[in-house]
Amino acid sequence: MQSLRSFLTLIVVLLILLFPFSIGAEDALIKTNYLNVRSGPEESHSTIDQVHKGEIYPILEKQNKWVKIKLEKKIGWVSLDYIDVQNQPEAGNQLKIVYDQVHLREGPSTDHSITSFAKKGEVFKIISYNNGWYEVKSEQTRGYIHERIALEEKRSSCTDVKNKTIVIDAGHGGRDVGAIGITGVQEKHLTHKTAELLKDKLILLGANVTLTRPNDEFISLASRTSVANISNADAFLSLHYNSVSDLPRVSGIQSYYFLNNSKELAQTLQSSLINISEANDRGVHKEDFFVMRQNRNEAVLLELGFISNKESEQLLATQAYQEKLVAGIINGLNNYFCN
Ligand SMILES: [Zn+2]
Repeated sequence: MQSLRSFLTLIVVLLILLFPFSIGAEDALIKTNYLNVRSGPEESHSTIDQVHKGEIYPILEKQNKWVKIKLEKKIGWVSLDYIDVQNQPEAGNQLKIVYDQVHLREGPSTDHSITSFAKKGEVFKIISYNNGWYEVKSEQTRGYIHERIALEEKRSSCTDVKNKTIVIDAGHGGRDVGAIGITGVQEKHLTHKTAELLKDKLILLGANVTLTRPNDEFISLASRTSVANISNADAFLSLHYNSVSDLPRVSGIQSYYFLNNSKELAQTLQSSLINISEANDRGVHKEDFFVMRQNRNEAVLLELGFISNKESEQLLATQAYQEKLVAGIINGLNNYFCN
C-alpha cells in the first residue's frame, strides 16, 4: 500500500514535470485583421505569417514594443500596438459557458471528436490550459473547450446569433446542378448538405433560420433574394462550391460581397473559415452577383471549396469537413454580431 502511494506520487510529479502548467503566463489577443507576424522584433524583419482579429496566442517573450508569440507550427513577432495582453487562465478557476450546445472535445483541437455538449450557464472547473484550449470538468463530464467561447463572457455588449434572422441560400438546385466535380459530385447537392447542417446548428443556437431552397428544386435568383428581403434578414449567406476543370490543382475558400455594408461580414466569415478549415485563403472580393446586389440586407456569397480538385472533392463530401465549414461560418457570424 505504501509503495503504491509512493508510486502514484512519483507519477504525479512526473506528470507535472512533463506538462508544466504556466501560472501567470500571458496571451496575445489579436485586435486587427491580417496582422503580420515577423521573423524578428522590428518592421524591417520579413513577414512569416499572418494572424487575425480575435485569435489568441501564448506570449513567449517581450522586447520593447514587440512580443514573440507561439503559433501552431511557427514562432514569430508581432507589434504590441495591435494586440491586447491578457493573463492566461489558472487551474482551479471556474469557467462559465455563455453559449448553448458548446462542444466538449476529447483533446485540445477541433480534430478531436466531440464527446458531449455543454449548456449555457453550466459551470466547469479548469484543470489546465494550453494554447487557447481549456481542459475542464464538471460532476457529469470532462473535456476540452476553446477559449473563444469563454472570452465572449467578458464582452458585455456582445450579442451572438441568438434571435438573429439568417437566410441560407443553397446555391443552384433542380435542373441547375451547378458545378460538377472531378468524379461527378454535383454542386447543388453539396450546397444543400452544408445549408441543412448550418441550419440545424444555428437553430440550436437560437437563431431564426430560413432556407431559400429546402429541397432539390430550381429557384430563381430573384425569389432567393426576395426571401431575404421579406424576412428582413440580419445576414444572407449564399453557399457555393467552385470548379475550374482546366486547373485541377486549385483549391481554397473565397468570399464575396457587393454592397459595402456587407464587406465586414465577408471578411469576418472568410477569416473564421480559413482559421478552422486551414484551407487555402483565396481572399475577399467585391463582385456584382445578383443575389447580393438585389439584397436589402447584409449579403455574402461563400465559395467553400473546389470540387474540380480531386482531394478537395473527397474532403468536402466528408461529414467531418462539412462540420468544420459550418463551425467556421458560425464562429464568423458570432464574431460579426459581437462587434
Ligand atoms: Zn455555384
